[in-house]
Amino acid sequence: MEEISPFSTTVYSAGRTRLVKLSLPLAELPRELAKNLRPVSPGEVYNGPAAKGEQKAADPDVLALTAKVDGRRLMGYAETITLTGKRSAAQLDLSAASGNRQAMDHIAGAFAGMGYAVERQCYKDRKADKECNIVARRAGQPGGKAILIIGHMDSVGYENAGADDNASGSAGVLEMAKVLSGYRSDHDLIFIAANGEENGLTGSYACVKKMKASGELARVAWVINMDMIAWNRDGVIEIETNKEFSALADWVGEQARLYTRLQPHIAMPAWGSDHVPFLEAGIPTYLSIEHWDDHTPCYHQACDKLETLSWDYASDIVRLNLAVVAGKTRLTPLKL
Ligand SMILES: [Zn+2]
Repeated sequence: MEEISPFSTTVYSAGRTRLVKLSLPLAELPRELAKNLRPVSPGEVYNGPAAKGEQKAADPDVLALTAKVDGRRLMGYAETITLTGKRSAAQLDLSAASGNRQAMDHIAGAFAGMGYAVERQCYKDRKADKECNIVARRAGQPGGKAILIIGHMDSVGYENAGADDNASGSAGVLEMAKVLSGYRSDHDLIFIAANGEENGLTGSYACVKKMKASGELARVAWVINMDMIAWNRDGVIEIETNKEFSALADWVGEQARLYTRLQPHIAMPAWGSDHVPFLEAGIPTYLSIEHWDDHTPCYHQACDKLETLSWDYASDIVRLNLAVVAGKTRLTPLKL
């Protein structure tokens, strides 16, 4: 925003959205700045509370599902991921001991232990190491669709940091996988710990490209992204999408009021996380993220540590996203 200020005036600033009016044509801006901007019309922009529908009653089956969220387990997943060292994909190196590699291995092992089929979806080779997303799948009924749940496991690269951004969201993916491992689902469930988010969404763009090529993307009906879900003071969650999916976002907001203590806000348009490549592919997708007007003061800094986080708040975001899954597919508890 600072770099663009000589060429623009800010006309709107709320939540995660900044609109600027350029003082010269976009084509005349330095390319480095222009690539971070996109044209937006005022009708695409909203930052505020989710619409209130008529009051419905909570579904006891969904309450039973969300009651299975375990905040201590969620924190444990985040702790292990945070303490792998430096998790930036840019820091993948010759050593298999890089934090990024260790986090990938840990997450792959956790999914496998829950009974999922695990794939290392690698898209970039570097000398002795690879940059990969970790993908876990469980097939639903034949002819069903797929629900995809994603959170990035890389960080900007400070040692044992990136707890909120985004050990929290990748732990949320693991916790959802753990709870849902006890159910049969009509639709396929796909869980992704994405890599390279902090280097231009490289993992999620590669994922969309690979799934498009294999034909799998055509079956993906909904995508849920978790990025920064554990730092909060006011109980507000932002549900971010683009205008074409604002009805979905309001419905997600309704689930938040029914099944959690969260206050749902809607944020549009979408930018800057792993929901974007899926939205660009036309798939109904939202990002769940902490309230951006009061987000972690340690954003992209070395102080983004575990002890600053709220696992009650993060647990509620996981409960919300589980309630959304339950609203989109029939879940049947597996007999023990
Ligand atoms: Zn992030």
